[in-house]
Amino acid sequence: MEKKLEGLLAKLYRNNHLKKLELLYLLEKITYLKADLLFAYARKTRVKTYQRRVYLRALVEFSNHCRNNCWYCGLRRENKKVERYRLLPEAILSCCASAYQAGYRTVVLQSGEDKFYTAAVLADLIQAIKKECPGMAVTLSIGEAPREKYYRLYRAGADRFLLRHETVSADLYERYHPGMSYRRRLQCLKELKGIGYQTGAGFIVGLPGQTDEVLAEERLFLKEFDPEMVGIGPFIPHPETPLGNSPAGSVEKTLILLALIRLLLPEVLLPVTTAVNTLDRYGWEKGLAAGANVIMPVVSPAACRRKYEIYKNKAGVDYAALPELKRRVEKAGFELDMSRGDSYKRLQPAERSGWGRIGAG
Ligand code: SAM
Ligand code: SF4
Repeated sequence: MEKKLEGLLAKLYRNNHLKKLELLYLLEKITYLKADLLFAYARKTRVKTYQRRVYLRALVEFSNHCRNNCWYCGLRRENKKVERYRLLPEAILSCCASAYQAGYRTVVLQSGEDKFYTAAVLADLIQAIKKECPGMAVTLSIGEAPREKYYRLYRAGADRFLLRHETVSADLYERYHPGMSYRRRLQCLKELKGIGYQTGAGFIVGLPGQTDEVLAEERLFLKEFDPEMVGIGPFIPHPETPLGNSPAGSVEKTLILLALIRLLLPEVLLPVTTAVNTLDRYGWEKGLAAGANVIMPVVSPAACRRKYEIYKNKAGVDYAALPELKRRVEKAGFELDMSRGDSYKRLQPAERSGWGRIGAG
């Protein structure tokens, strides 16, 4: 590896920061085959905070109805070929209770933007989950909503919220999200953070039009916004969308970006997303080796998993029984941690000092 690249990686590891031109140079020059040093620094960084723990989130995809029309997503409202479904609150609660029984202590409730689930319905559901599953963290991933709704759900007990900004380029954002605005997206993220949620931002890797310059800006945006979680994943085309014929994003590039994010935000919770594991059968292992520390297996009923087709061929690879997951994680040199797995940033100093013990909580 050339000296300048090595120097920049060492600087990034030391300072957790680089200037935009330095990041751009890194992005242009680094290739997956030459990224060993980058991945090694990323692993060392995650071990300093989260040690070798890998947190699990039980993902419940509770509705595939969506009022939006994002150009990349198979759930967009104009896709008439997708078979739509909604889980009623009792069914969602039952998924959460089964996940709790299995040992999960975080559930992620994800859906399209579906007005059926009003603030009142979701608030009651969150309260019911908290009652039936004591100690379970609830993460929401339900898209944009008025601040009052976010606030009410937080008051009902929701702990975290994932809302990817999708791309830092306002032009690309508005091209691929008809009727939506980049400003509003950022405003939602700020509102969530201001309310007190552990907040997750993130972007799609390989959206047509995304240049290395845009990717360098992604890093700087994330550094400034400083979210507790970052979700990134490769773009996977869905045939019934306007981007159906575009090439998929690269897993290798995603892994490089995961490692860079770990170095820029050492305390971030960083999942290996389903899209990585869909395109690569060792996606989880490779993501963990690149500095990720969260896996989100889907626990919704099998019939729904098939219909929640943001992209094709998703079903089947996003689910693994816990013993199988444990085996894969341990073989990769990490340890499953079934605790809530809150952001390191949110832990009190006393909690951080008791951080040597893996396991219960
Ligand atoms: N509707 C909510 C929202 O958009 O925030 C949450 C559900 S949405 C399906 C979750 C994420 O899926 C989006 O943030 C987007 O980044 C990702 N996604 C959708 N279609 C995708 C595709 N074709 N390839 C990769 N990721 C995709
Ligand atoms: Fe709807 Fe989210 Fe898909 Fe966009 S990405 S169409 S908001 S489910």
